[in-house]
Amino acid sequence: MSVKTILNAEDNATNRKIVRDLLEWHGYRVVEALDGVEAVELAQREVPDLILMDIQLPRMSGYDAASAIHGDARLARVPIIAVTSFGMIGDEKRAYEAGCDDYISKPFRPRLLIQKIVRLLDGTGSCGDAEEERP
Ligand code: MN
Repeated sequence: MSVKTILNAEDNATNRKIVRDLLEWHGYRVVEALDGVEAVELAQREVPDLILMDIQLPRMSGYDAASAIHGDARLARVPIIAVTSFGMIGDEKRAYEAGCDDYISKPFRPRLLIQKIVRLLDGTGSCGDAEEERP
């Protein structure tokens, strides 16, 4: 099985480190963008298997970056998980409107993020932020 590449667009260094460690531990290759413009450029250069998109990014919002990425024919089918801030009502709706495939709110449980990634990479899809773990 080939190694899957995940693009993490996140401006907070601590969050980037947490996600990098988590994803690398699970065998993924991680590339990182620090703002929305860089996210679009890196997506076009890498054509990643999946994108984690922080919504609040400098230079270009995660919504706009997601729209731009899915507007590129080569990237139109790359799944995007929007990373929203806890309690920001309406973010989820906007994320879907921007073409995101799923969303997760910060702070999130590592296992929930991995579950969402696995589902999207399997092509079975996922929806919402409900707790999907089994006890
Ligand atoms: Mn941010």
